[in-house]
Amino acid sequence: MEKLIIIAPLILYFIGYHFGVAFSRLSIILLISLIVVLYPTHLIAISVIVSLLLTEYFLEKFYKQMQSLKRAYNENLSLVVNEMAALKKDSETIKLNLSSSEKAIKNILYIYELSKNIAGYVDLEKMFNLIVKSLDEQFTIKDISMKIFDRNKVFQKGTPLNLEENIKSQKIINNIIYLPLSIGEIFLGILAIKIPALYEKDTEFFDDIAAFVEELDIAIQRAILYSKVESMSRTDGLTDLHRRGYFNERLKEEEIRAKRWKGRFSILMMDIDHFKRVNDTYGHQAGDTVLKTIAGILKNSIYETDFAARYGGEEFVIIFPQTDPLGLNIKTEKIRKTIEETEITVGLERLKVTASFGIAHYPKDGLTSDEVLHKADMSLYKSKQTGRNKVTEYNSEIS
Ligand code: GH3
Ligand code: MG
Ligand code: MG
Repeated sequence: MEKLIIIAPLILYFIGYHFGVAFSRLSIILLISLIVVLYPTHLIAISVIVSLLLTEYFLEKFYKQMQSLKRAYNENLSLVVNEMAALKKDSETIKLNLSSSEKAIKNILYIYELSKNIAGYVDLEKMFNLIVKSLDEQFTIKDISMKIFDRNKVFQKGTPLNLEENIKSQKIINNIIYLPLSIGEIFLGILAIKIPALYEKDTEFFDDIAAFVEELDIAIQRAILYSKVESMSRTDGLTDLHRRGYFNERLKEEEIRAKRWKGRFSILMMDIDHFKRVNDTYGHQAGDTVLKTIAGILKNSIYETDFAARYGGEEFVIIFPQTDPLGLNIKTEKIRKTIEETEITVGLERLKVTASFGIAHYPKDGLTSDEVLHKADMSLYKSKQTGRNKVTEYNSEIS
């Protein structure tokens, strides 16, 4: 009987479960009440079935609570995931903004630095070379042409660009930026820059390049004017020494004088050693400072009656009228040593250079000034060939 009291409600429970838990429970409660009334002595069986019923009830409640906890947890989790996604998106936008403003700042600094460098130049060719180098480095622009009208001088890098356009203000035609170089109404020249295909649709690039080109405008105009003034002058603007043209005039005069009075003169040629390295390592401005310093040393080492000129880029020439060859050799050796020992300050750097020399004398080494000049040049070449930083006086073995 005990067993029946336990099993019967259980079976009833499972059967009633089909009609819902509430129905099941209600029928069991009714059954238990019936058993209690009919068989009050079977207390153990009754209490087993009652405790089973209670356990089921609490388990079900616990399960429901767990379910609702799970639901709440899932809801929170999806909220967190959404927020994380939004945060990620935000951080990506911030990163993007940062990198574009970083790029803009970099470009501004670059343009500032460049315009400062360019402004230091007055030589058109050097300026053009720097523009070419900068445009290539910063914007991978390879094709640049510039024309200076009055001298019909054209500077070119890469594919030659059409410079025949009659352009009065900055314009873009067929992906070429044209910059007229003018002062007021006077048109001095034109600069053309071909935009690489990669940037054709990049508006930011056009803004950067426009800022860059604006900076170039004034610097180039100044260089054009300077070169006009300089070409009319007898003095080299950088070193303050005489220019080659004037030197040639003076050399002819010296030849005539020496012939007339049976006099003599000597020519010294000098070339800075490995000067290209100075430019390549420290920049053109540093190179210019070196040139100025060396020119200063030359000027301080000669008499008023001697004549020093800048013969070419880093080549100098001096005419020494009525000079004793032995004395000139000693003097040149002194100049060589002074140059070798002079520390030249460029920015934060201190550097030293050496120079090679060649000397020839009239009438000993040649009967015309051209010949003597040529012999001095050959002697200089000999100095270069035999190790540089030395003085070579012409002798018949040099040829
Ligand atoms: P070497 O010892 O054989 O003479 O070597 P080098 O490097 O001095 O000879 P090179 O003739 O190859 O180089 C001369 C350099 O001088 C090249 C040119 O860029 C530079 N130069 C010429 N004129 C100027 C100038 O006015 N300013 C500056 N900064 N550099 C110049
Ligand atoms: Mg040279
Ligand atoms: Mg040299």
